[in-house]
Amino acid sequence: MAISVTTLLDKAQEYLPSDKVALVQEAYEVAEAGHRGQMRKSGTPYIDHPVRVALFLADLQLDSHTLSGALLHDVLEDTKVTEDELERRFGSDVRKLVDGVTKLNKIEDQTSRAGGSQSVDGAHSGLQAESLRKMLVAMAEDVRVILIKLADRLHNMQTIKALRPETQFRIARETLDVYAPLAHRLGISNFGWQLEDLSFRCLYRERYREISKLLATSRQRREQFIQEVCSTLRKEVAEAGLKAEIHGRPKHIYSIHKKMERYAVQGRDFDQIYDLFGFRVVAEDIASCYAILGLVHKLWRPIRGEFDDYVANPRENMYQSLHTAVRGPSNASFEVQIRTHRMHDVAEYGIAAHFRYKEGGHGDHRFDAQMTWLRQILEWQQEQPAAEEFMESVKTDIFPDQVFVYTPKGEVRELPTGATPLDFAYRIHTELGHQCVGAKVNGKLLALDSALQSGDTVEIVASKVRKGPSLDWLNRDLGFLKTANARDKVRSWFRRRARTENIEAGRILLDKELRRMHVGIAEEDVAALMSYQSADDLFAALGSGGVSTQQIAPKLLPVESPLPPDSTVAEPDTSDSVMVAGLPNMLTRLAHCCHPLAGDNIVGFVTRSRGVSVHRESCRSLKSVDESGRLVPVSWGVRDRRYMTKIVVVAWDRVGLLSDITGIVSSEGVNISAVRSSHRKQGTVTELLTLQTSGAAQLSRILSKAEEVKGVISVNRTG
Ligand code: MN
Repeated sequence: MAISVTTLLDKAQEYLPSDKVALVQEAYEVAEAGHRGQMRKSGTPYIDHPVRVALFLADLQLDSHTLSGALLHDVLEDTKVTEDELERRFGSDVRKLVDGVTKLNKIEDQTSRAGGSQSVDGAHSGLQAESLRKMLVAMAEDVRVILIKLADRLHNMQTIKALRPETQFRIARETLDVYAPLAHRLGISNFGWQLEDLSFRCLYRERYREISKLLATSRQRREQFIQEVCSTLRKEVAEAGLKAEIHGRPKHIYSIHKKMERYAVQGRDFDQIYDLFGFRVVAEDIASCYAILGLVHKLWRPIRGEFDDYVANPRENMYQSLHTAVRGPSNASFEVQIRTHRMHDVAEYGIAAHFRYKEGGHGDHRFDAQMTWLRQILEWQQEQPAAEEFMESVKTDIFPDQVFVYTPKGEVRELPTGATPLDFAYRIHTELGHQCVGAKVNGKLLALDSALQSGDTVEIVASKVRKGPSLDWLNRDLGFLKTANARDKVRSWFRRRARTENIEAGRILLDKELRRMHVGIAEEDVAALMSYQSADDLFAALGSGGVSTQQIAPKLLPVESPLPPDSTVAEPDTSDSVMVAGLPNMLTRLAHCCHPLAGDNIVGFVTRSRGVSVHRESCRSLKSVDESGRLVPVSWGVRDRRYMTKIVVVAWDRVGLLSDITGIVSSEGVNISAVRSSHRKQGTVTELLTLQTSGAAQLSRILSKAEEVKGVISVNRTG
């Protein structure tokens, strides 16, 4: 349905003085005259599009120049209006905004021409990287260009159905990978969530439908529960003499999806009633926030590890709130966010708050912090010419959740969640990273691969002699480095190291791998298998971190013997042969009441604590189930091929050794079918483990991880 410009002008009137509204109206008239007669693919008059884009920005209460720029954002490309005319009638500010958006659109066109044939998951990272790069540059010049671009994308996503399916996929993929994270990063959460849900619906139609169905079926019970919790808390808050707005709200579909995925990996049960919504409390001031937090924890039992204080430690996008999760009535867990009105504003408007007409000069320190972040990315970007590496660093270093750690001097540093002391060292200074031999976290020595927590104080111990990084740091399986930026620095150190040294280091690595994997292949043959000209070339690549032993391993064992049907191997309790529709990682088990066999018609039943149990459709025990909402479609997947392998570990004997080793093996999802320990002279022990691995790459990974276990002398595959 076409929208009238009056809606926009009315909204602008609410917060802009009339001379500014007049400018917006003039922008509309120029855009309308220019686009007259043009139609969108959806069949509506073209002018409808810029008006809606401007309306999104008026919701954020942005200034008149941004609104005018939004109305005019397509005129340079699609109409006879010229840059000179824009400058003359609207001034250089508006002209620059329109110009900026037009330049970004040109990159998008290139992307679409080159990326027309890609699949749902096969993103064109090179082209995405290019468009993101250009966006960041445009953003450094004027963030409002990106705000217009995000609003433009939001409307395009809302009307995406009019486009061809492959175009829909491309645009949705790019939106999910680039635009939505960018919106979140800028703190404009409303744009971010909408962009996520719209692209998720387009890319994963089935799953989207399932989750919306889930939301619909449990609505009634959920609303009762929300009522109950809200009124209990409201009463408590009033009795304490405090004021606050308290709401329960359903989560966004994409965030539910992410949560389900996370739960499936952790083997936790997703609760269809309580995991679908959260509570929000907006309080008068910071003191009330903490007071209300206390009330929440008094009423209901807090869940350990679920409390985050983003008030004391704001996120990098300036987001502040207290987050907690508690066990409430009927032992159900739910989340509560507590914030002030001002924090709520930042959470809703993010960087846009800086340009809000009413805000005037407020919030400048927030804006400066955002700009520091941006300048940092642009600096990194210059060091990273390869599109793929740039994209990788954007994904790992810029968009994810952050932890906040302190230098010994008390300066705060932000790092992505999971970052290690080594990442921290590289973040402080490249040389400090290269020389790093240890780290004291909160005064205690901590392994270089441990994950830092918010609030940690980290002191790096540097080698006195020139040392340089270790190749292990590039091995992702060992988990020394989380940030792509630090990995980059290590890679370039090795690239610059003399070829002769790399060859020597590579030779040692390959020898070790051949020995470990128990294969007798000549080095030249390995080089040929890996398509290198000579053994030295392979060594140099290995020694500089260009290729890893994990990549070589599968070529060393091309022919593997499949796991024989072995009656001594107990039937696994869980089943990897059944997949829940749309949830490939969901834990499933075959029901013991009807013993379904591959090929049977089956259906899944969502249990409270043990994933999904799989029954035959005809199973009687299902007939008595009245909670049909807990039945989910499932299908027989392809059973993974498993290979029997024996490995031998020699180590200094100590308490907990075996459990450390088996812990590593099972963290890979590998079954251990037998363990045999034999003690030897001088305090060493030999453990013989029989494993069912998915192949050589996994085996090689287990071998190198096991080698890192304290006390381990050697790990080898046996013949
Ligand atoms: Mn547009």
